Amino acid sequence: MEKRTNVQGGGVLDDPKLYKYLLPGMRIVLDEMVSDPSPLEKGTQGTITGRDDIGDCHMEWDNGSELKLLENDRYHIVTTQEELEKSFEHLRKKQEKDYNICPRCGKTFDVRRGAVSRRINKLNIMICDLCGQQEAIEDFILNSKKYDTDVNIFVPAGNNQTGYKTKEKSEQNGKQKIDVKIKPISDWHIVKVWRGVET
Ligand SMILES: [Zn+2]
Repeated sequence: MEKRTNVQGGGVLDDPKLYKYLLPGMRIVLDEMVSDPSPLEKGTQGTITGRDDIGDCHMEWDNGSELKLLENDRYHIVTTQEELEKSFEHLRKKQEKDYNICPRCGKTFDVRRGAVSRRINKLNIMICDLCGQQEAIEDFILNSKKYDTDVNIFVPAGNNQTGYKTKEKSEQNGKQKIDVKIKPISDWHIVKVWRGVET
């Protein structure tokens, strides 16, 4: 996978030269477009689609515009909960068409055979079926009042992606003891891409 510059930590977000760190896939919120006589509205979101020979950012704005984002425009990377939700709304629309990468784990999947995430409320964001199983297990753990450190539940074969660590296998019943770490949305593959966090 392409290595991404971490613009989250190290104060790079406040770097006046932030423009040079922008990469395809990142989500931009426009503060003020000064580079075009018919500027897009403040708050418009868009995705960087590429950089050309002279370093300009090519964009796919959510309203369909393809105006470039230039260095002297004012903008920031999706940050707040509200901005993230707007980005997820846009993702949902993309999932109805061509986008088939699981936003949680980053693997390609058949959107029609995926699961609706329980994490992005009411937006019907699709995730792959393994991630769907993981969310179901996370909820089971969250709702289990007896949960201390180890939980003895059955883990479906192959479901050992990030977030789950097999601690030991119980000899008695053939089930696995697992240590569950709930995966926050900020840790989702797509949020890391949107924010330019190294993956
Ligand atoms: Zn997934």
